Amino acid sequence: MLVTMEPGCPEEAVRQVQRWAGERGFRSRVLRSEQAVTVVLVGEGDLEQAKLLEFWPAVARVSRLFSPFKLAGRETKPEPTRFRVGPVEVGGEQIVVAAGPCAVEGRQQILEAALAVKEAGVQLLRGGAYKPRTSPYSFQGLAEQGLEMLAEAGQAAGLPVVTEVIAPEDVPLVARYADMLQIGARNMQNFALLTAAGENGRPVLLKRGPSARIEEWLLAAEYVLLTGNDQVALCERGIRTFERYTRNTLDLAAVAMVKELSHLPVFVDPSHGTGRHRLVAPLAKAGVMAGADGLMIEVHPDPVKARSDGYQSLTPDEVRHLVGELPAVAAAAGRRFGRDRAVGLTSLGEGGDEE
Ligand code: PEP
Ligand code: MN
Repeated sequence: MLVTMEPGCPEEAVRQVQRWAGERGFRSRVLRSEQAVTVVLVGEGDLEQAKLLEFWPAVARVSRLFSPFKLAGRETKPEPTRFRVGPVEVGGEQIVVAAGPCAVEGRQQILEAALAVKEAGVQLLRGGAYKPRTSPYSFQGLAEQGLEMLAEAGQAAGLPVVTEVIAPEDVPLVARYADMLQIGARNMQNFALLTAAGENGRPVLLKRGPSARIEEWLLAAEYVLLTGNDQVALCERGIRTFERYTRNTLDLAAVAMVKELSHLPVFVDPSHGTGRHRLVAPLAKAGVMAGADGLMIEVHPDPVKARSDGYQSLTPDEVRHLVGELPAVAAAAGRRFGRDRAVGLTSLGEGGDEE
C-alpha cells in the first residue's frame, strides 16, 4: 500500500502512520520527494485495514500498489533516484564510468590502472579484492591487502572506489575501504548478503544474475531497499544464453525495460557482457543509448598479464579513446558526460583466465 501524506504534515504524523502499520503486521519505508511524502507499507498486513488510514487528517490517500517492486518501482517513486558515491553523483544528468581491473593484483598494478583511468576521464575506480571464481583453483583475490591497495590507489588518483563483497560477514571490512559495495552476478540472490550490504548504508551496485529475469533482479534490489538504504544502482552484465561467441549476452533491452519499471540508476558492464575487448566500446556506447546511467569497464595496464578477465580488458589507450567518445554519445542520448563548464558541473567530472 502507498500512503500519501498531506503536504506539509508534521513528521510526527509520518511516524504515527509507521507505528500504526507496524502494529498491524506491515513493514514501512518513508519516501520523500519534492512532490510528496509517502509511506510504503509492505508485508503481511491486512490491506483493507490499511485503507482506514484515509480517515486520518494527515493522510491524503491510501492506494494499492500493483507493482511487485514496492520500493524499486516507479509506481511509488516516479522520479529517478540520485545519490553520491564520494563526490560523484550517480543517476543524475551525467553518465558515470567506473573503470579498473577485474582484480587488484598488486600495489603497482592497481596504482597504474587508477592513474590511467583517471587520466582517461572516468569518475570511479573499480577492482576486486574478493573474486567469486568459477573454479576454486583460479586466483581468488588479495582480500584485505587488496582492499588496502585499492583504497590507496583511489586516493592517489582522486577516485572513489567500488569493489565486490561476497560474504555478509565481510561487509563491515569491505565498507571500511570502499565507497560503493558491488554485489556480483553470482550473489544476486544471496539474500543475507543483500540485507547486510543494505544495512551497512554504503551505496550498493547490484549486478544482474547470469540467469536472472528482470523481475528477480528488481526483487533482489527490494531486499536492499527494504533495509532503508535507498542508494542502489543496478548493473546489467550479460545473461547466459545459447550463444557462445560472446561470453554472455548483453541484454540491452533489459536496460531500457528496467529504466521504465524502476527509478533506480542502471549501469551497463560490456566487459563481462561480451567477454571480448573489441566489443566493449561499441556495446558501451549502445548501453548509453539504451538509457544507462553508468558504465562499468574493465581496464588493465597490461591485459595480457591479467590474472583474470584479461581478454575482455581494455588497455589505458583504449579506455581513453572510448571515454573521449562519450560526450557525443551522451549528448545523443539526451545526457551529459564529463566536465561541463557551461553548466558549472566541473566537480562531477573531476570529482589470464576467465571466471
Ligand atoms: C567483476 O565485476 O569482476 C565480476 C566478477 O562481475 P560479475 O559478477 O558480473 O561476473
Ligand atoms: Mn571480471
